[in-house]
Amino acid sequence: MESMQNILIVGAGFAGSVCARELAEVGHKVLVVDRRDHSAGNAFDLKDEHGILIHQYGPHIFHTNSERIFNYLSKYTEWYQYEHRVRGVVDGKEYPFPINRDTLNQLYSLDLDEKGAADFFEKVREPRELVKTSEDVVLNSVGRDLYEKFFLNYTKKQWGLDPSQLKAGVAARIPTRTNTNDRYFTDTFQAMPLHGYAVMFENLLNHPNIEVQLSTEFKDVLNSSREFDHIVYTGPIDAFYDFKFGHLPYRSLRFEHEHLADQEWYQSVGTVNYPNDFEFTRITEFKHLTGQQATSTSIVREYPTAEGDPYYPIPRDENEILFKKYKVLADQEERVTFVGRLAEYRYYNMDQVVGAALNAVDKILERK
Ligand code: FAD
Ligand code: UDP
Repeated sequence: MESMQNILIVGAGFAGSVCARELAEVGHKVLVVDRRDHSAGNAFDLKDEHGILIHQYGPHIFHTNSERIFNYLSKYTEWYQYEHRVRGVVDGKEYPFPINRDTLNQLYSLDLDEKGAADFFEKVREPRELVKTSEDVVLNSVGRDLYEKFFLNYTKKQWGLDPSQLKAGVAARIPTRTNTNDRYFTDTFQAMPLHGYAVMFENLLNHPNIEVQLSTEFKDVLNSSREFDHIVYTGPIDAFYDFKFGHLPYRSLRFEHEHLADQEWYQSVGTVNYPNDFEFTRITEFKHLTGQQATSTSIVREYPTAEGDPYYPIPRDENEILFKKYKVLADQEERVTFVGRLAEYRYYNMDQVVGAALNAVDKILERK
């Protein structure tokens, strides 16, 4: 793309906002629309009425192995150094999660060293020749007892499916460790935007070539008199095509936010997972993530649902087949680029969306 073009971007989350900035930087005029009344997509954060910085759509912890992506976002935010830690509750007691040597020692009253932990996993694992499903992944690495204690019911709650119905990649997000490392993520870079995601997005979108229209539907812009040379679409791909091949399933969540006025802290770490108890999957206490000091605290419980805003693509073969039908159409579009978690139907983390958006911009700019 050589001369200045008018570009419409649908969605002001990571995918849309990174594309907007990169296209604006090289001289194109960009209109970003989002049906929500804020930018930042699902990473949106705000101060609640008690002044605690919370994440409206559940806990978002930035982590990446890519120095390029970390440096890219560092142009728009400073960082608060934070390493996420999670504990899983089994029979009313909290254990380090992902499963590590301390988890084994505490759960089974053992005193294993690193080699002992490796031998333990070797003894209990149910080896699988082909690791195709999330059930295969977990049984193959930690065996049935740990599978049932930490994974089976959490996964059933989160997805409404048995682990055997989900692709391996879902459970493969969680490592198994023979050491005592209790960081949730293994990535080199882990940090939170110092002033929050919403501020980072304001900086990202603050450019003379970018216009942002919130509370605005894509179809309303299409039906208006404005003309665009190119569209970057980051919403659900099935909606773009009016569900002509049927609905792609996306998993949703209901977030129950709560402020606890009379206590400084609710729990010992950022997130506590409840694989076997309650209807919710996990509780997150935001002050752990953000480093904010306050005498009261705010938490969120996540209740998985089938209905509601689309949050997670559901990685399984039949959904992939349906997605591919839409992708055939998408690949034929000369004037529309599809990028992001909903448009590509990929279980992307935030850093992966930034990477996908930077690549998408390169492709758009290569076009004549
Ligand atoms: P989105 O953020 O979904 O943005 C798409 C935007 O498009 C939305 O704002 C939507 O309103 C808008 N839109 C859609 N259709 C239309 C339309 N027709 N008209 C107008 N606007 C439209 N990632 C991590 O790296 N670390 C984490 O800790 C983490 N935690 C997560 C926790 C939860 C509960 C969830 C749901 C996700 C989490 N993620 C995490 C993933 C992260 O949220 C995504 O990778 C990222 O936000 C996706 O960005 P996106 O721009 O592709 O999509
Ligand atoms: N998982 C589980 N038990 C847990 C945590 C995770 O079974 O205590 C499984 C579950 O299937 C979940 C997947 O691992 O959906 C990925 O977990 P992650 O924490 O990465 O999910 P996200 O933060 O994306 O919701």
